[in-house]
Amino acid sequence: MPINRQRYADNWSTIALSVKEAALWRCRHCGKQCLRPGEKPSNLTRSEWTMATLSVHHANFIPEDNRPENLIPLCTPCHIVIHGGRNGNISPGQLSLFRYIYENGVLKILPNPDLLPLT
Ligand SMILES: [Zn+2]
Ligand SMILES: [Zn+2]
Repeated sequence: MPINRQRYADNWSTIALSVKEAALWRCRHCGKQCLRPGEKPSNLTRSEWTMATLSVHHANFIPEDNRPENLIPLCTPCHIVIHGGRNGNISPGQLSLFRYIYENGVLKILPNPDLLPLT
């Protein structure tokens, strides 16, 4: 099921921004400090930058439901994991950007080395 933009509120970007601000740009799942808008450190690779981007997840997967308790700030890897475990919102191509490894009960997310440039 592709993401249907029309299901999102007109002021979704404002709502999402306030959720991220309230979370101090940290992922609620893994606690990673993510990048604020305009922060694009040039020493980050594209995949590192993607991984440090915060998005807002709907806990019940209903995009119309913008109650604060339904909105969860997540970094890209955590967000992909949550969607990947439920339905096909994320294509396999996007999934393979990262590798997920459970170590001592902790989910570690690493860039998929198969995607790294060979040079
Ligand atoms: Zn995270
Ligand atoms: Zn989501």
